[in-house]
Amino acid sequence: MPVKARQPLPPLPELTDAQRRGADCVFCATPLRNRASVDLGMRRRTEQGQQLTIHPRRCAAACRPGSASAALPPPTPGLIAQLSARTTLDRTGSGRTFASLLITHPAPQFESVDPVVVERLMLGVAVTLGAVPAVLPTVVPGRAPSFSVDRVSLVSAGALVHFDGTPWSMRIAESPGWSRVVASLGRVLIVVGLDELSPVASAAEVDEYIECAGAADRLYATVSSVADRRRRAALRRP
Ligand SMILES: [Zn+2]
Repeated sequence: MPVKARQPLPPLPELTDAQRRGADCVFCATPLRNRASVDLGMRRRTEQGQQLTIHPRRCAAACRPGSASAALPPPTPGLIAQLSARTTLDRTGSGRTFASLLITHPAPQFESVDPVVVERLMLGVAVTLGAVPAVLPTVVPGRAPSFSVDRVSLVSAGALVHFDGTPWSMRIAESPGWSRVVASLGRVLIVVGLDELSPVASAAEVDEYIECAGAADRLYATVSSVADRRRRAALRRP
């Protein structure tokens, strides 16, 4: 069996009782009751002269960003219906084609929205897709920020994107070349922007958005496998 170095834990005084028991993630304090988790094994510690053992666990997928108290809501059906999706085919530095999907919040045409609210909604979108802060520019697909399982499935009229914590999926309109690449590679780079972007932004505006958001650490990303349709349906049945 391969032996792996133990992951260092946050300092003991910073851990809540729930984190010490393994009820909450030791890194981000997300409750693990309904989430896949990884047991980090029993650890012995000393606190104020007293021996104690802790049983830390962590999120199996990406940890939720930010602090524990700020548990993020999964996207509501209304938000999912509003989100904009842009499918693109790009090339890696080594010339291989990959498919990506950019998910953003639409900028309303006639009113202003609170960017803090948008950010929180989009963080919810990002974490329920298993996305983590991304370093984009030219390294996009080579340095996968995280891997997610079966977030995307191909359907006859396009694709569906699946989030944790909600039975509602996001529908992506058909774009034949993109779907073909997704089907043949079996994976998609999903990028979530924390800032709003006009649904009618031009290609140049989208590029600029990615550049600015990426430079400001406001893009989250994950590489997802493409779900087998039948298995996904079975998993999703309530
Ligand atoms: Zn976590």
